[in-house]
Amino acid sequence: MQPFAHRLQPARHGLSRRGVDVLQVNMGRYCNLACVHCHVESGPTRKEMMSREVIDAVLRFLARSKVPTLDITGGAPELHPDFAYLVAGARRLGRHVMDRCNLTVIFEPGMEYLPQFFELHGVELVCSLPCYSQENVDRQRGKGTFEASIRALKLLNDIGYGQPAGDLVLNLVYNPVGPHLPPPQDKLEQDYRKILGEQFGIVFNRLFCLTNMPITRYATHLKLRGEYDRYIELLEANFNSMTLDHVMCRDLISVGWEGKIYDCDFNQMLDLPLCDGNGKALRIETLSLDQVERQKILVGNHCYACTAGAGSSCGGALVS
Ligand code: SF4
Ligand code: SF4
Repeated sequence: MQPFAHRLQPARHGLSRRGVDVLQVNMGRYCNLACVHCHVESGPTRKEMMSREVIDAVLRFLARSKVPTLDITGGAPELHPDFAYLVAGARRLGRHVMDRCNLTVIFEPGMEYLPQFFELHGVELVCSLPCYSQENVDRQRGKGTFEASIRALKLLNDIGYGQPAGDLVLNLVYNPVGPHLPPPQDKLEQDYRKILGEQFGIVFNRLFCLTNMPITRYATHLKLRGEYDRYIELLEANFNSMTLDHVMCRDLISVGWEGKIYDCDFNQMLDLPLCDGNGKALRIETLSLDQVERQKILVGNHCYACTAGAGSSCGGALVS
């Protein structure tokens, strides 16, 4: 395999950050699901959670910077006891808030307030629905997940989410069930729209196609099935230099549940924090944008997953 860093040679200086438009915050590893493709290795037994002190540091950072968007992820971030505190705090500061929601969380005990809370704060929802078929969703995410996801989507539609004329944004996320690249995003979006509309009366704004990242739990899953090497070769063989200008780490930084700063959620899972000149990990409590803007991004062979084919990011495909 050609190391990913060699692919950047024509750019001479590697990959560097343009600025920070999005602060992505990973509130912890706890989740009500345990999906096979999960790069966070989340699940109901995970205990790691962001402390109130770190959450306050996130809010202070937003207050002293001009970063316009807070993108909240996990685990299932809504199950964090301070989820509502973080959302409301960021909205008070006038920031756009996005929540990466697994849909089924809405039916967990004590979570009934979520749809109205999302609506009240105008939270943009990015919801996983890896397929429009029950069989595929339940295989990847667990039995009953599809039915609960459809119920949640209907509930969100009923309060105005995903409606073409409204401003409550509901985006869906597809990721492949098997070790292959996602199909073209525009075409799949049309298929989702047709099937979810006809069968369930569901509407949504956009579909984001994501490539599965072959690290942590998904890497183990592939290795157990003898599919890891073939998947890595597929990603490398489909490297597309056109995606390099658009990879999400060029405009985003990620904060881990413990408060350290990373180029992205994937580097966070690989324990590759951003460091100062003395090799000390940067932390949200003392972070200034000068420390991360124009800084070189820490790349590795896992970056082939972001740059294969049409590319992949938290906002879906990178090029058409
Ligand atoms: S819902 Fe998301 S965070 Fe939870 S296990 Fe599945 S992929 Fe991981
Ligand atoms: S994994 Fe993707 S987002 Fe993260 S540093 Fe590599 S290219 Fe950037």
